[in-house]
Amino acid sequence: MRRVAVLVLIGSCLVQGASLTLDQFRQMTPSDQEKMARRYTQRDRDDFWRVEGFKYQVRAQGSSEQALEIALLMDEFYDSFARTFKGGFSIATQPRLYVFADRDAYLEFMKVRDVDGAEPTGGMYLTSDRLLVTFAKATDEHLKQMLFHEATHQLLHTYTVKRSLPPWYNEGMATNFQLWEPSRSLRENVRMAIIESHYRSQVAAEAREGKLPDLQALAAMDGDDWLENFDGANYAAAWSFVNFLLSSEDGQRRLDRVLRALKKGTPVEKVMPPAVVRKLERQWHEDIRTRLMLYDEFIAPALHAASEGQVDEAIAHLEVGIAGHPSLPDGRFYRARLLLEKDRFAEALADLEAVAEQDADFPDLHLLLGRAALAAGDPAKARSHLQTHLRSHRDDQQAKELLREANRTLRTATRPAG
Ligand SMILES: [Zn+2]
Repeated sequence: MRRVAVLVLIGSCLVQGASLTLDQFRQMTPSDQEKMARRYTQRDRDDFWRVEGFKYQVRAQGSSEQALEIALLMDEFYDSFARTFKGGFSIATQPRLYVFADRDAYLEFMKVRDVDGAEPTGGMYLTSDRLLVTFAKATDEHLKQMLFHEATHQLLHTYTVKRSLPPWYNEGMATNFQLWEPSRSLRENVRMAIIESHYRSQVAAEAREGKLPDLQALAAMDGDDWLENFDGANYAAAWSFVNFLLSSEDGQRRLDRVLRALKKGTPVEKVMPPAVVRKLERQWHEDIRTRLMLYDEFIAPALHAASEGQVDEAIAHLEVGIAGHPSLPDGRFYRARLLLEKDRFAEALADLEAVAEQDADFPDLHLLLGRAALAAGDPAKARSHLQTHLRSHRDDQQAKELLREANRTLRTATRPAG
């Protein structure tokens, strides 16, 4: 009897693809991974493993485990990408991804299809077939970046069937989303993209010389103009403009509206007329002079110094950034993180409370406030912040552990002596 019940339980878990996460899959033993992969994949006649029941249709030449792992990765990416659009995002056709076993097989496939320029690439999105093609393994960070970049093109293209996307939108989104981590919130991803993207220092270097990107020229470019002026400066400008739009709710709504207009077949100029472009350009330039510069000149170098063990120097460096950009909470947030590393809890707590006054929703703020308050000897305050954090991060084990510790400390403190 008992054996039957267990089997039924496993069976019901397996029917829903969404109930399995990439993390869970990666933590399984190789033999469990193999069993799980057999459940979700089918062998096609051309020796590809095909994954069923996911948002992405993945076909992999290597193994059924690889097919399932990539399908799980792409589904998490799809969900995270779709959440960016406040008006919702859904497409009628299932996006397809082929994963060849090696580079030779990949290049052979491209040759048969007459695709030029595949040699230096690790993958490509073929617009004519709406097909994403790659080779090798999804655990590799470069491959993941390429997949997320090309998948952004694929999803945007599949969504806006009626009108081609302006290149600033298409490449600006792809260069931001290539650094996406699906488990993070939109705000955390936007912040990490500015820390991790090499385009940041390119835009900052130009701005220091007084050259700010021209939005009117960028917005006027079509696909052919983009290819004719194929250089890193266009990509850097598109990356920066989209990062700026993604960083505020107004900007997110703007991106949403442009995409919806394109889907209906409305020209972009209808939702971004010249007066709006001029206004957006002013706001974007201000964002470059403040937020982008704070990250380029202070936060990114401080994080780098801290990773090399020079935490005191990093804290001193951030000091200058905070003084120069007092309206932005980001510098204080990073200084607080470093102060916690140095066990300077009271100062960290003061920094974080200042951040909370400027922006109570700053990503991970309440987790850090909880940590700092607990270490600074205020378990009641710690508990309150950790509970706030856990409302939006239900599975955060670190926060749960800190909350248990805060509760333990509170119980000990209220117990009568003796
Ligand atoms: Zn691209």
